Amino acid sequence: MVNVHFLGVRGSTPCADSRFSQYGGHTSCVLVEADGGIFIFDAGSGIVNASALALQLPSRECHLFFSHVHLDHIMGFPFFAPLWFKDYTVNIHAGSLAKYGGIKDFFTRTLAEPLFPVPFAAFPGNIKCKDFTPGHVHKFGNVRIDTFRLNHPNGAVAYKLTCNGKSMCYVTDHEHGEGSNREGLVEFIRGTDVFIYDSSYSDDNYPKFKGWGHSTWQEALRLGDDAGVVKTAIFHHDPLNTDDKMSVIERHVGEFSSRGFVSRQGMVITI
Ligand SMILES: [Zn+2]
Ligand SMILES: [Zn+2]
Repeated sequence: MVNVHFLGVRGSTPCADSRFSQYGGHTSCVLVEADGGIFIFDAGSGIVNASALALQLPSRECHLFFSHVHLDHIMGFPFFAPLWFKDYTVNIHAGSLAKYGGIKDFFTRTLAEPLFPVPFAAFPGNIKCKDFTPGHVHKFGNVRIDTFRLNHPNGAVAYKLTCNGKSMCYVTDHEHGEGSNREGLVEFIRGTDVFIYDSSYSDDNYPKFKGWGHSTWQEALRLGDDAGVVKTAIFHHDPLNTDDKMSVIERHVGEFSSRGFVSRQGMVITI
């Protein structure tokens, strides 16, 4: 059994007021329970709600994979509780930082005064930083995690987690169209059970944001249909999309494809 927890579904910035309470305001974080372990994708503000599940693990160890390190994908990182326990190991994986000196260097430079009072090197947890090149395959027991290069300013990486024949794909932040290697992405996600995709915009407003590195909910559904995935999750919602606007999108998604659904914070899908 693989459980996919949507802990943060918003892009760009958290949205904390009541107009966002139904779909959720935390930024990107998806936690997957598989093979007795925990695999977390991105550390947006939603990762604060991953702490309790991660701390329950008897192994006192989990894995955190970054799509990239734009602010909305790392802002919750220092508030992920396991980092503050001496007996806990957090393995951090990143594949978008080769030209920026790697993930350890990035956090050493970033989690430092005056931005943050505790230097990264002084975090009590046992933090293991690992960089990889997109295309690399990670293996942890029965869990396999494939990786794929995305089309995004400063780079980003997609992940496909497979465990005992069940799979989910985490694909954000990514711009479709020129330079996006659409055929490669369709093959990467082919047949997956849950395909999570950057749906910041719609086909109607996308032209205004061309070059910003994001995609549309219609493209999510087209990709899902082309790749024969079981379910496509609309994800990385624009912070301008209040619950009222999201419910209109949700209705259109249902009309467009029976495979699509709008992800909400707190949703758990069991594959
Ligand atoms: Zn983002
Ligand atoms: Zn980004």
